[in-house]
Amino acid sequence: MRRLIAGLGALALALGACTAGPGASSPAASGAGGGASFAAESTMAKIQQKGKLVCGVKFDVIAFGFKNPTNNEVEGFDADLCREIAQKMGVQPEFVETVSKNRIPFLQEDKVDIVISTMTINEERKKEIDFSHEYYHAGQSILTKSDNTAIQSVDDLNGTTVCTVEGSTSEKNISEQAPDAELLLFPSYSEAAQALVDGRCESVSTDDSILFGLASQFEGTELRGEPFTDEPLGIGIKKGKDDLVQFVNGVLEEMAGNGRWKALYEKHIKPYSGKEAPEPPFKAAG
Ligand code: GLU
Repeated sequence: MRRLIAGLGALALALGACTAGPGASSPAASGAGGGASFAAESTMAKIQQKGKLVCGVKFDVIAFGFKNPTNNEVEGFDADLCREIAQKMGVQPEFVETVSKNRIPFLQEDKVDIVISTMTINEERKKEIDFSHEYYHAGQSILTKSDNTAIQSVDDLNGTTVCTVEGSTSEKNISEQAPDAELLLFPSYSEAAQALVDGRCESVSTDDSILFGLASQFEGTELRGEPFTDEPLGIGIKKGKDDLVQFVNGVLEEMAGNGRWKALYEKHIKPYSGKEAPEPPFKAAG
């Protein structure tokens, strides 16, 4: 008897995996709101059952993840990627603030389903979590006060104090490329920029895409020099959720194919970068 039940269970799982048709006794096929159907017990089915996709995003990074104090909406490219993925799943998006340092712990503790938080894909992080395709290509640059002419490139950061964020690649890159700089670390980029304005450091260094927004927010600051690193941004996912990685990549590919990726660039990033939308850094579907 026990063996029979086990056998039926396996059959139900197999049916769910193939068709999720009426033969499957699992709730996997329910799909809140008409999204695609997934095998029982898969990560995708669990997200559909709870009816929401919880995304860890930044709340203080203009153009990517920014909680607008006037309406409490989370705005930006990363936030809209979350909305797009949730919509394709047929669930509601939900936003949780992630700063650079807690992105990986929040995934590992299942506090969020995915992290879309200006996060660089690199080998070190790949040991701990999985990533989607690269969805945006950034590079590290420098923000200084406009009247500071002494800082023009990363070399000039030696002997100065640089403000940046703990747990970021920016922190690591400065210690490697300007080893004689002193680092002043904060949990968030808005705090780092405030410290620059207050004169506690001579620069903020991180992804150019984050600095564009800070330059517009903090009067009397500007970007200096060319980017001196490559920062391929990806969506972070806990290891073992391959079906979720595949689904997210599918949504990205579709967005490259139907112009949605470029539309989001134009809406959120172009007003700050001043540049036309590049080609997406991954292949389009079809
Ligand atoms: N993209 C870099 C990183 O993932 C810097 C930006 C950030 O801290 O979010 O660490």
